[in-house]
Amino acid sequence: MIYDDSNIFAKILRGEIPCNKIYEDDFVLSFHDINPQKKIHALVIPKGKYVDLDDFSMNASPEEMVGLLKGINIVAKKLEISSDTGKGYRALTNIGEYGGQEVPHLHFHLFGGEGVGKMVE
Ligand code: AMP
Repeated sequence: MIYDDSNIFAKILRGEIPCNKIYEDDFVLSFHDINPQKKIHALVIPKGKYVDLDDFSMNASPEEMVGLLKGINIVAKKLEISSDTGKGYRALTNIGEYGGQEVPHLHFHLFGGEGVGKMVE
């Protein structure tokens, strides 16, 4: 899988494009989606160069894997949508063409702040 360094999230990670940051640590960056689909629509991306979840699952280190999962939980808590700080949310990642992925850098969408509806249209 070839990672395209010119994708928009790579530019955000390099600081070339601004984002509305929610959280950052050694493993993840989280920011608000520019085109929110729900009251809360956050994105959580790993700092490493991974095209999608398959690429990440095959090639990321155990530390990066734990870091991403922990990052999602930290962001959900921070936004008060987690199962302990709020009423829950949906975490979703699109993979490839049929998955509807537009940006070729792995990202999890966190939807919440209201009921998020049917799982698949
Ligand atoms: P996907 O279809 O899963 O690849 O989702 C890509 C998401 O990135 C969409 O929800 C876009 O609204 C979002 N997006 C694109 N550009 C930006 C940006 N500059 N800042 C924040 N979110 C963005």
